[in-house]
Amino acid sequence: MFKKISEVMIMGYKHIESALIHGGIYGDKQTGAVNVPIYQTSTYEQSGLGQNTGWEYSRTGNPTRASLEALIAELEGGKAGFAFGSGMAAITAVLSLFQSGDKIIISSNVYGGTFRVLDKIFSSFDITYSIEDTTNIETLGNKITPDVKAILVESPANPLLTVTDLRAVAELAKKHHILSIVDNTFMTPYLQRPIEFGIDIVVHSATKYLGGHSDVVSGLVVVNDEKLAERLAFIQNSTGGVLGPFDSFLLIRSIKTLSVRMDRHVKNAEKIAVYLQNHEAVKNVYYPGLATAQGYDINKRQAKNGGAMISFELYENYDIKRFFSSVKLIALAESLGGVESLVCHPASMTHASIPYEIRQKVGITEGLIRLSVGIENVEDIIADLEQAIKESVK
Ligand SMILES: *Cc1c(COP(=O)(O)O)cnc(C)c1O
Repeated sequence: MFKKISEVMIMGYKHIESALIHGGIYGDKQTGAVNVPIYQTSTYEQSGLGQNTGWEYSRTGNPTRASLEALIAELEGGKAGFAFGSGMAAITAVLSLFQSGDKIIISSNVYGGTFRVLDKIFSSFDITYSIEDTTNIETLGNKITPDVKAILVESPANPLLTVTDLRAVAELAKKHHILSIVDNTFMTPYLQRPIEFGIDIVVHSATKYLGGHSDVVSGLVVVNDEKLAERLAFIQNSTGGVLGPFDSFLLIRSIKTLSVRMDRHVKNAEKIAVYLQNHEAVKNVYYPGLATAQGYDINKRQAKNGGAMISFELYENYDIKRFFSSVKLIALAESLGGVESLVCHPASMTHASIPYEIRQKVGITEGLIRLSVGIENVEDIIADLEQAIKESVK
């Protein structure tokens, strides 16, 4: 009934909005159900030794998970997708491609957990990292020593929304015969498709926009090369951090509405970025959709728009502790990409695992506020920001 991942064709819909709904494996041929069933099973009966249906054990493969994996592969334009129990499990699986002595370059703004797993876990296996400014392709090229085996970037990056030229990174990696990895969490395939630029591996925390409702923790990986797909399938089955059938179903369900959610997220974010930029209390606004932003032109070339994450700093005469306790509609919480607006304090929350000195060096200041713009009415979000800023005057 279900095709194996390797047999899934990239359907090539004209428009991604249709692929979000009909892509991957659509429905259930046996009953005509328009939704893929939740195969809540760990194992599958075999009719004789060596005779199975193609499904043997749900760590290795589960039809609901396989549907999601086919869907994300198609959306990102890759050959194979893999679903994990969290974004970090997905990133860990990708990092398991490397061996002791290998070094991985990461961009100076990456998710705190990505830094932490390299700094505290993979370092024990002598897989090292170096933090580089990936926005500067020329200097980046000089950093590729023989032990460097991959470049891992986010664009726009967390939390300063810095933009890296993905096509240039892919070319540089190819030139040096190393892998290029993009964490596409902030953009989703609806806004940016790194594989089209020659990137080897795309990872997602699907907990964020793909899930979209702050109710599921999950991670996805897409690759565009058969050999790499085989190795990742082996790692996924060997290390076992797979996504369960119910969460796989939830993600398939959420992805159907990704385009309408993202359109509203972005429309709201564009208005809020301008509001913040014109506000007398605001010292800096970081949003790649503003013409004044670092990397605006590059982002415009490689992504549909600037996305819906905004970071900003208030002037010194505002007390940000009071700001955080004054927001009402907007929730103070980790995470992002849900339908509800969220604010967080990167220095003490999402990026607390990065040492103070490094945070200062890469610009994650104590005054930085990160806003995940939800899909509420934009006037209500702005009104909440306005009252919270007023409350926080020292
Ligand atoms: C949240 C996040 C992760 C980690 O994903 P989890 O699902 O929380 O494990 C990785 N990268 C980025 C950019 C994130 O925002």
